[in-house]
Amino acid sequence: MTIRSVGRRGKYLLIDCVGASDAGWLIVHLGMSGSVRFVDPDTPLRKHEHFDLEAGGKVMRYTDPRRFGALLWHAAAAGPVEMHPLLAGLGVEPLTPALSAQLLHRATRDRKVSIKQALLAGDIVVGVGNIYASESLFRARINPKTAAGRVSLGRFERLVPQIRDVLSAAIAKGGSTLRDFSSATGPGYFQLEYFVYDRAGEPCRVCGTPIRRIVQGQRSTFYCPACQR
Ligand SMILES: [Zn+2]
Repeated sequence: MTIRSVGRRGKYLLIDCVGASDAGWLIVHLGMSGSVRFVDPDTPLRKHEHFDLEAGGKVMRYTDPRRFGALLWHAAAAGPVEMHPLLAGLGVEPLTPALSAQLLHRATRDRKVSIKQALLAGDIVVGVGNIYASESLFRARINPKTAAGRVSLGRFERLVPQIRDVLSAAIAKGGSTLRDFSSATGPGYFQLEYFVYDRAGEPCRVCGTPIRRIVQGQRSTFYCPACQR
Protein backbone atom coordinates (compact mmCIF):
# COMPACT_ATOMS: atom_id res chain seq x y z
CA MET A 1 0.00 0.00 0.00
CA THR A 2 0.98 3.63 -0.54
CA ILE A 3 -0.13 6.16 2.05
CA ARG A 4 -1.27 9.25 0.16
CA SER A 5 -2.17 11.46 3.08
CA VAL A 6 -2.98 11.41 6.77
CA GLY A 7 -5.80 13.48 8.23
CA ARG A 8 -7.80 13.60 11.41
CA ARG A 9 -11.47 14.01 12.28
CA GLY A 10 -12.38 14.17 15.96
CA LYS A 11 -10.41 11.37 17.62
CA TYR A 12 -10.01 9.40 14.38
CA LEU A 13 -6.90 9.34 12.24
CA LEU A 14 -7.75 8.99 8.55
CA ILE A 15 -5.01 7.30 6.56
CA ASP A 16 -5.66 7.50 2.84
CA CYS A 17 -4.17 4.39 1.20
CA VAL A 18 -3.93 3.08 -2.33
CA GLY A 19 -2.69 -0.32 -3.41
CA ALA A 20 -2.46 -2.39 -6.60
CA SER A 21 -6.05 -3.59 -6.35
CA ASP A 22 -7.60 -1.59 -3.56
CA ALA A 23 -7.95 1.95 -2.25
CA GLY A 24 -9.57 3.45 0.79
CA TRP A 25 -9.02 4.78 4.27
CA LEU A 26 -7.75 3.23 7.44
CA ILE A 27 -9.77 4.77 10.25
CA VAL A 28 -7.69 4.56 13.41
CA HIS A 29 -8.72 5.43 16.95
CA LEU A 30 -5.83 5.35 19.40
CA GLY A 31 -8.06 4.79 22.43
CA MET A 32 -6.37 5.61 25.73
CA SER A 33 -2.76 4.97 24.86
CA GLY A 34 -2.51 3.47 21.39
CA SER A 35 0.12 4.49 18.87
CA VAL A 36 1.07 4.19 15.22
CA ARG A 37 4.72 4.09 14.22
CA PHE A 38 6.85 3.04 11.28
CA VAL A 39 9.31 0.18 11.77
CA ASP A 40 11.51 -2.02 9.60
CA PRO A 41 9.60 -5.08 8.31
CA ASP A 42 11.75 -7.53 10.32
CA THR A 43 11.12 -5.75 13.64
CA PRO A 44 9.70 -8.42 15.98
CA LEU A 45 6.14 -7.94 17.21
CA ARG A 46 5.88 -6.92 20.83
CA LYS A 47 2.95 -7.49 23.15
CA HIS A 48 -0.20 -5.55 22.18
CA GLU A 49 0.97 -4.94 18.62
CA HIS A 50 -2.09 -5.72 16.60
CA PHE A 51 -1.75 -4.54 13.04
CA ASP A 52 0.84 -4.02 10.32
CA LEU A 53 0.43 -2.13 7.06
CA GLU A 54 3.21 -2.61 4.55
CA ALA A 55 4.06 0.71 2.92
CA GLY A 56 7.13 1.85 1.03
CA GLY A 57 9.53 -0.78 2.40
CA LYS A 58 8.49 0.01 5.96
CA VAL A 59 5.71 -1.31 8.12
CA MET A 60 3.16 0.91 9.80
CA ARG A 61 2.51 -0.81 13.11
CA TYR A 62 -0.53 -0.17 15.28
CA THR A 63 -0.25 -0.80 19.02
CA ASP A 64 -3.10 -0.59 21.51
CA PRO A 65 -2.04 -1.72 25.02
CA ARG A 66 -5.35 -0.96 26.72
CA ARG A 67 -7.53 -2.08 23.81
CA PHE A 68 -9.78 0.96 23.86
CA GLY A 69 -8.87 1.86 20.29
CA ALA A 70 -10.14 0.68 16.93
CA LEU A 71 -8.89 0.19 13.41
CA LEU A 72 -11.25 -0.12 10.46
CA TRP A 73 -10.97 -0.19 6.69
CA HIS A 74 -13.29 2.01 4.62
CA ALA A 75 -13.00 1.15 0.93
CA ALA A 76 -13.01 4.08 -1.49
CA ALA A 77 -15.78 2.27 -3.39
CA ALA A 78 -18.05 2.73 -0.36
CA GLY A 79 -17.97 6.52 -0.78
CA PRO A 80 -16.29 9.46 0.97
CA VAL A 81 -14.78 8.59 4.34
CA GLU A 82 -16.60 11.54 5.93
CA MET A 83 -19.83 9.60 5.40
CA HIS A 84 -18.68 6.65 7.53
CA PRO A 85 -21.15 6.16 10.42
CA LEU A 86 -18.40 6.87 12.97
CA LEU A 87 -17.68 10.24 11.38
CA ALA A 88 -20.94 11.45 9.86
CA GLY A 89 -22.42 12.64 13.17
CA LEU A 90 -19.36 14.47 14.45
CA GLY A 91 -19.52 18.16 15.25
CA VAL A 92 -17.21 20.82 13.82
CA GLU A 93 -13.48 20.98 14.50
CA PRO A 94 -12.80 23.56 17.23
CA LEU A 95 -9.67 25.06 15.68
CA THR A 96 -11.30 25.75 12.31
CA PRO A 97 -13.50 28.71 11.29
CA ALA A 98 -16.45 26.26 11.30
CA LEU A 99 -16.69 26.79 15.05
CA SER A 100 -18.48 30.06 15.70
CA ALA A 101 -20.70 31.61 18.34
CA GLN A 102 -23.54 31.58 15.83
CA LEU A 103 -23.15 27.84 15.24
CA LEU A 104 -23.11 27.01 18.98
CA HIS A 105 -26.07 29.28 19.58
CA ARG A 106 -28.13 27.80 16.75
CA ALA A 107 -27.25 24.18 17.60
CA THR A 108 -28.19 24.50 21.27
CA ARG A 109 -31.55 26.25 21.08
CA ASP A 110 -33.54 23.08 21.79
CA ARG A 111 -31.06 21.54 24.26
CA LYS A 112 -32.10 21.12 27.85
CA VAL A 113 -28.78 19.55 28.93
CA SER A 114 -26.19 21.75 30.59
CA ILE A 115 -23.79 23.77 28.47
CA LYS A 116 -20.92 21.65 29.85
CA GLN A 117 -22.56 18.43 28.65
CA ALA A 118 -23.49 19.95 25.28
CA LEU A 119 -19.83 20.87 24.70
CA LEU A 120 -18.69 17.37 25.67
CA ALA A 121 -21.30 15.50 23.60
CA GLY A 122 -19.26 15.79 20.37
CA ASP A 123 -22.15 16.26 17.98
CA ILE A 124 -21.91 20.06 17.93
CA VAL A 125 -18.17 20.51 18.36
CA VAL A 126 -15.51 17.80 18.74
CA GLY A 127 -12.33 17.86 20.79
CA VAL A 128 -13.58 19.85 23.78
CA GLY A 129 -12.81 17.21 26.38
CA ASN A 130 -13.67 17.27 30.06
CA ILE A 131 -10.72 19.36 31.22
CA TYR A 132 -11.05 21.86 28.40
CA ALA A 133 -14.81 22.28 28.82
CA SER A 134 -14.36 23.19 32.50
CA GLU A 135 -11.46 25.53 31.78
CA SER A 136 -13.02 27.35 28.84
CA LEU A 137 -16.35 27.85 30.67
CA PHE A 138 -14.43 29.35 33.60
CA ARG A 139 -12.54 31.73 31.33
CA ALA A 140 -15.79 32.75 29.63
CA ARG A 141 -17.46 33.20 33.08
CA ILE A 142 -20.33 30.83 32.21
CA ASN A 143 -21.81 28.56 34.88
CA PRO A 144 -21.44 24.95 33.62
CA LYS A 145 -24.90 24.07 34.98
CA THR A 146 -26.69 26.57 32.71
CA ALA A 147 -29.03 24.85 30.27
CA ALA A 148 -27.36 24.98 26.85
CA GLY A 149 -30.54 26.36 25.28
CA ARG A 150 -30.43 29.37 27.61
CA VAL A 151 -26.89 30.52 26.85
CA SER A 152 -27.04 33.78 24.92
CA LEU A 153 -25.22 34.56 21.69
CA GLY A 154 -23.10 37.12 23.55
CA ARG A 155 -21.91 34.45 25.97
CA PHE A 156 -21.02 32.11 23.11
CA GLU A 157 -19.03 35.00 21.63
CA ARG A 158 -16.99 35.00 24.84
CA LEU A 159 -16.74 31.20 24.91
CA VAL A 160 -15.47 30.43 21.40
CA PRO A 161 -12.12 32.28 21.70
CA GLN A 162 -11.58 30.71 25.12
CA ILE A 163 -12.13 27.20 23.71
CA ARG A 164 -9.56 27.95 21.01
CA ASP A 165 -7.06 29.40 23.50
CA VAL A 166 -7.36 26.52 25.97
CA LEU A 167 -7.00 23.87 23.26
CA SER A 168 -4.12 25.67 21.54
CA ALA A 169 -2.26 26.01 24.85
CA ALA A 170 -2.80 22.33 25.62
CA ILE A 171 -1.53 21.30 22.19
CA ALA A 172 1.52 23.55 22.61
CA LYS A 173 2.22 21.81 25.93
CA GLY A 174 1.91 18.38 24.32
CA GLY A 175 -1.48 17.27 25.63
CA SER A 176 -2.62 16.49 29.11
CA THR A 177 -4.27 13.12 29.38
CA LEU A 178 -1.74 10.47 30.29
CA ARG A 179 1.80 10.51 31.59
CA ASP A 180 2.77 7.87 29.05
CA PHE A 181 1.22 9.78 26.16
CA SER A 182 3.69 10.11 23.33
CA SER A 183 3.36 12.42 20.35
CA ALA A 184 5.23 12.25 17.05
CA THR A 185 7.78 14.63 18.58
CA GLY A 186 8.17 12.95 21.98
CA PRO A 187 6.42 12.54 25.29
CA GLY A 188 3.74 14.94 26.46
CA TYR A 189 3.23 15.87 30.08
CA PHE A 190 0.57 17.31 32.30
CA GLN A 191 1.88 20.86 32.42
CA LEU A 192 -0.98 23.29 31.92
CA GLU A 193 -1.81 25.37 34.95
CA TYR A 194 -5.55 25.01 35.37
CA PHE A 195 -7.90 27.64 36.73
CA VAL A 196 -10.51 25.17 38.00
CA TYR A 197 -9.86 21.61 36.81
CA ASP A 198 -8.97 19.23 39.66
CA ARG A 199 -8.88 22.14 42.14
CA ALA A 200 -11.96 21.39 44.30
CA GLY A 201 -11.78 23.33 47.57
CA GLU A 202 -8.79 25.39 46.48
CA PRO A 203 -9.18 29.17 46.11
CA CYS A 204 -10.23 30.56 42.72
CA ARG A 205 -7.20 32.13 41.08
CA VAL A 206 -9.30 35.20 40.23
CA CYS A 207 -11.52 35.83 43.30
CA GLY A 208 -10.42 33.41 46.06
CA THR A 209 -13.78 31.60 46.37
CA PRO A 210 -13.31 27.83 46.87
CA ILE A 211 -13.62 25.92 43.57
CA ARG A 212 -16.53 23.50 43.47
CA ARG A 213 -16.68 20.01 41.99
CA ILE A 214 -19.97 18.61 40.71
CA VAL A 215 -20.82 15.57 38.57
CA GLN A 216 -22.58 16.08 35.24
CA GLY A 217 -23.29 13.06 33.06
CA GLN A 218 -20.87 10.94 35.14
CA ARG A 219 -18.03 13.41 34.54
CA SER A 220 -16.49 15.79 37.06
CA THR A 221 -17.01 19.48 36.46
CA PHE A 222 -15.03 22.13 38.31
CA TYR A 223 -16.13 25.75 38.51
CA CYS A 224 -16.06 28.94 40.56
CA PRO A 225 -19.57 29.73 41.87
CA ALA A 226 -18.66 33.43 42.14
CA CYS A 227 -16.97 34.04 38.78
CA GLN A 228 -19.28 31.80 36.72
CA ARG A 229 -22.89 32.92 36.65
ZN1 LIG B 1 -13.73 33.03 41.16
